[in-house]
Amino acid sequence: MKKQIAQKGLASLSLSLNVPGFPKSNHTVNVFFRCCLQELKYNLKAHLVDIDDNESIEVCDEAGDFYLVPCSTAILTLLEIKQVCEDFEQNHPLGRFIDVDLNDQQGNTVSSGKSKLCFFCLERPAIECRRENAHEPEELRSFMFPKMADYCRRQHDESVIAKLSSLALKALLHEISLTPKPGLVDKFSNGSHADMNYQTFINSTAAISPWFVGLVREGFTFRDSDMTKALPIIRNIGLRMESAMYEATQNINTQKGIIFLMGLSLFACGNLFSQSDHFKTEVFRTIIRDICKDLIKKELVAGSESAKSHGEKIFLKYGFSGARGEAESGFRTVFEFGLPQLTGFAELNDEVIIKSFLAIAAHNNDTNILYRSNPDVLNALKKLCKKALGDFNDQNYSAVIDFCKNENISPGGSADLLAVTIFVWLVMRQFDDSTI
Ligand SMILES: [Zn+2]
Repeated sequence: MKKQIAQKGLASLSLSLNVPGFPKSNHTVNVFFRCCLQELKYNLKAHLVDIDDNESIEVCDEAGDFYLVPCSTAILTLLEIKQVCEDFEQNHPLGRFIDVDLNDQQGNTVSSGKSKLCFFCLERPAIECRRENAHEPEELRSFMFPKMADYCRRQHDESVIAKLSSLALKALLHEISLTPKPGLVDKFSNGSHADMNYQTFINSTAAISPWFVGLVREGFTFRDSDMTKALPIIRNIGLRMESAMYEATQNINTQKGIIFLMGLSLFACGNLFSQSDHFKTEVFRTIIRDICKDLIKKELVAGSESAKSHGEKIFLKYGFSGARGEAESGFRTVFEFGLPQLTGFAELNDEVIIKSFLAIAAHNNDTNILYRSNPDVLNALKKLCKKALGDFNDQNYSAVIDFCKNENISPGGSADLLAVTIFVWLVMRQFDDSTI
C-alpha cells in the first residue's frame, strides 16, 4: 500500500501500535488506536501537515490496527513532517506504544536515526529487546493493555465531564433568556428587580461557569460511602463561585440559589457517570437525597436561633424549607412537576419551558416570594400559575406576569428549579435515560 501511494509520487504517513504477541488487536487495543488516530489527525492539522484523508486506508487485520494516508510535501519538508510525528509520539502519555512512520516518495521509511527506548525495561533500545525477545509477550501485553484501557477511560470521562458542564451552562442560559418571565429578569425586563438586569445575569453566569468542570470531577472521584461528606466539598467550590458572582455583579446576589442546586446536580452527575454510561433518574435522585440527608434538621432547625440567610429567616417564620428542602427530597418539584412538562419533546422552545416553569411555580413554596411578601400572596400566585398552565394562553400567562409586577415579587426559587429541570432534561437527552 505504501508502494502504491509512492507510485503516484506521494509520501505517506502511517499509524500503528507496538503490540507484541497475538492477537495484535482486541477491543481495548482498537479503542485506543482510534483514540490515538483522532489525536494524531488533530496534531497533524495543527502543524499544517497536509494529509489526504479521503485517500486514507484504515484496516484491522492479523497484523493489527493500521492507518495509512498520502501526505503532501508542498508545505513542509519530509524532515519537518518527521519531526512533527516524533514530537507526537514523545508528547503522548502512551507514546511508546505508538508508531507513526513516514515514508518518502519512493515508499522508503524516513528515519531520524534516533533509537527508541524499550517501553518495558526502559534500559535498552526497543529494537534490541525485540530482536532478542528479551521480554515475554504475555508479560508485555499485561503491562500495556491496562494502561491503554485506563487511558481510554480517562479520555471518555473527560469528554463526559466537559459535556455535563456545557449542559449546565446551556440550562442556565436557557432559563435566563426565557422571555417574558413573571417578576424575573429576562431579556427585555428587569421584572421586580431594581438592582439587576439581563447583563448582570450574563456576567454572573460567565463568572461561575468555570467551576462546573470541577464540580463534576469531584463527583467522579468521590468514593466515600457516607454521601453527606460530599456536601462540604460542594460548598467549598460553591463559596468560590459566590465570590466570583459578587465580583462580577458588584455585590448583587443573582445566582446564590442556583449555585447550590446546580453544584449538587453536577456533583451527582459526576458520581453517577463514574459508575454508569447512562443517566438513571432514580440513581441521580438517590445521590442528591443522600448528600442532603437531614439537611433541614441540621441547618434550618439547628440554626434557627441565629437565622441569617433569606432561607433561614423564612424557615423560622413559616417553616418552609426552600432550596434545602427541595434538595433533601431529591428535587421533588423538578421531577414531579417541572420535568413532565418537557417529557416527549425533541427540542425545547419558549412555550414548553414556560409551561414547565408554571408547573413548578404552581407547586413551589418559593422562599424568595415569602421573603418579600406573605403566604397569601404566594398562594394567589400558585393559583394563577395553575390556571395559566391548565388553560395556556397569552391572557392567562400575562395575568401571572401582571400579578408579580403589582405585588413586586419575583419567583426566583422557581426559576432556579426551572434551570435544574432543563439541565436534567438535557442530560437525559444526551445520555439516553429510557424514562424520557
Ligand atoms: Zn526491554
